Amino acid sequence: MNDIRLASKAGRSGTRICIGSSVVGRDLLLIAGPCSVENEAQTLEIARAVKAAGANMLRGGAFKPRSSPYAFQGLGLKGLKILAKAKEETGLPIVSEALDTRDVAWMCDYVDVLQIGARNMQNFPLLKEVGKTRTPVLLKRGMNSTLSEWLNCAEYILNEGNADVILCERGIRTFETYTRNTLDLSAVPAVKELSHLPIIIDPAHGTGRASLIDSMSLAAVAAGSDGLIIEVHNDPAAALCDRDQALTPQQFSEIVRRVRALRSFMEGLN
Ligand code: PEP
Ligand code: MN
Repeated sequence: MNDIRLASKAGRSGTRICIGSSVVGRDLLLIAGPCSVENEAQTLEIARAVKAAGANMLRGGAFKPRSSPYAFQGLGLKGLKILAKAKEETGLPIVSEALDTRDVAWMCDYVDVLQIGARNMQNFPLLKEVGKTRTPVLLKRGMNSTLSEWLNCAEYILNEGNADVILCERGIRTFETYTRNTLDLSAVPAVKELSHLPIIIDPAHGTGRASLIDSMSLAAVAAGSDGLIIEVHNDPAAALCDRDQALTPQQFSEIVRRVRALRSFMEGLN
């Protein structure tokens, strides 16, 4: 593995990151929420529902990396203020994507975890900028990236002094078209061999299909994933972004019950 130093396993035990009342790397991290923050009522309703279902963090995009410049681009600062309100009410720490180096420093006042999206995995100035903060980073795997390239990107963040990096596998591009991406679940045990960093799975972007999320969530936990990030919407059919992969709060609640049961069973195996 090319020049992986700080991210390398090299006899280290797994990194643990305290965020709110969760310890990532020890507790099962369950991040849920809408693809994008659309308005206050939508976000608060989803936040309350995912909290009740057992999520331990709230996701929501305020800056959206859309394929088309004409698609909804996110609410920006207004969206972050809505997320802050949701946190105030539910206590759920906030995960939101940073798209631009100029936004990183001030975004830390609103979010508990800075997400680096798949399209920006190798945006080296952005990696260096989040590396200069003390806010934990959720680093998504680029859709065309190898494990080595991905770990090198984590290395950029660690090298700037920020030790709190969580990796997120979200599917890679293959010749398959039925699924939006091909979810590489082998990345979980592979990363655990190579690195001390925690890794979670995004079965929503990984499949692009709501019907496949339950199975892939269970499979991710069985593979040893440190958590899941799942898109949940109060009215999936009306979601402004990624509606085909959004779960209802009820569906999410059922998955939480099942993955927690599987995780307890697996702890009994050790
Ligand atoms: C997202 O989490 O909404 C997102 C845009 O993810 P990705 O960068 O993995 O496509
Ligand atoms: Mn999305």
